[in-house]
Amino acid sequence: MSDKKLKLGLYWAAGCGGCDVAVLDIDEKILDVAEVADIHFWPIAMDFKYKDVAAMDDGFLDVCFLNGAIRNSENKEVAELLRAKSKVLVALGTCACYGGVIGLANFCTREEILETAFKKTVSTDNPEGIIPQPVSEVDGCELHIPEVYEAVYKLDDFVNVDYYLPGCPPRAELIAKAIDAIVAGQLPEPGSVLLPAKTVCDECKREKKDRHVDEFKRPWELIPDEEKCLLDQGLVCMGPATRAGCGAACTNVNMPCRGCYGPAEGVIDQGAKAMSAVAVTAVSTNLAEMEKVISQVKDPAGTFYMYGLPNSLLRGRQMKEAK
Ligand code: SF4
Ligand code: SF4
Repeated sequence: MSDKKLKLGLYWAAGCGGCDVAVLDIDEKILDVAEVADIHFWPIAMDFKYKDVAAMDDGFLDVCFLNGAIRNSENKEVAELLRAKSKVLVALGTCACYGGVIGLANFCTREEILETAFKKTVSTDNPEGIIPQPVSEVDGCELHIPEVYEAVYKLDDFVNVDYYLPGCPPRAELIAKAIDAIVAGQLPEPGSVLLPAKTVCDECKREKKDRHVDEFKRPWELIPDEEKCLLDQGLVCMGPATRAGCGAACTNVNMPCRGCYGPAEGVIDQGAKAMSAVAVTAVSTNLAEMEKVISQVKDPAGTFYMYGLPNSLLRGRQMKEAK
């Protein structure tokens, strides 16, 4: 390995693995990456151990892409370790940036989740009702497993993050572009999101004009006009509150935006912003009539906070775990 090459690390915390797959999706670009960088830690691809990372000098890695949220003590420990060993830490994907879809777990307590997972599912075979504990005794030995936290957290709840690259997962070309910027030393101010400061509506080519919705529907209940704004047609679309970068991929194929790239620039609470955009489409001066229209939005909490409950002002039911 050449000393001039960038030293890269990649890690998957509490997530689905889709962000790691998105990195692989950069296809032949991975060969360009191999020319300019050596990968020193990537558990999904090679058999690295945590002790390999612990043995590195602080700041040894030039860049680390960390995807997934923080759900347990292992996620937190490795995030802290990688923070210490990396000059630049990038939160990759919406789970790491904002808590992601797994952050919806914050509508339940840890106990409710463990009870369901280990006792109540139809496939569970656990007659003694055992719930795994962080420390237990097995055959006279003490067994340690990670402690599940009370809530799902985003990465910057625990460590300082230099850059954010949201998306569920981020498109491969956005990851490739970020790698190019790193190699060229053309990164913006630390703390920046490595995506345009626009909304999905700015990227969406649909015509927006008729904001008089008297009924909200779910996507399967109608075949929308392909030219007109979906929100104007009574479909809940998160485009007005969501950061651009996806190229309006969903609205291009007649599906409303779900908000997976997180809040647009300057938006403090993506769900609240989207709710307000939806509310103004239900034009009526009659409060009761407005409430009737808005009440047609099914599962408002799950819809408006699908990708960012841990990042919201609401922050779920339980966010009191000590950091
Ligand atoms: S951001 Fe999406 S693709 Fe990436 S780990 Fe989270 S759920 Fe998976
Ligand atoms: S609300 Fe949705 S469909 Fe309408 S312009 Fe914005 S992104 Fe496009």
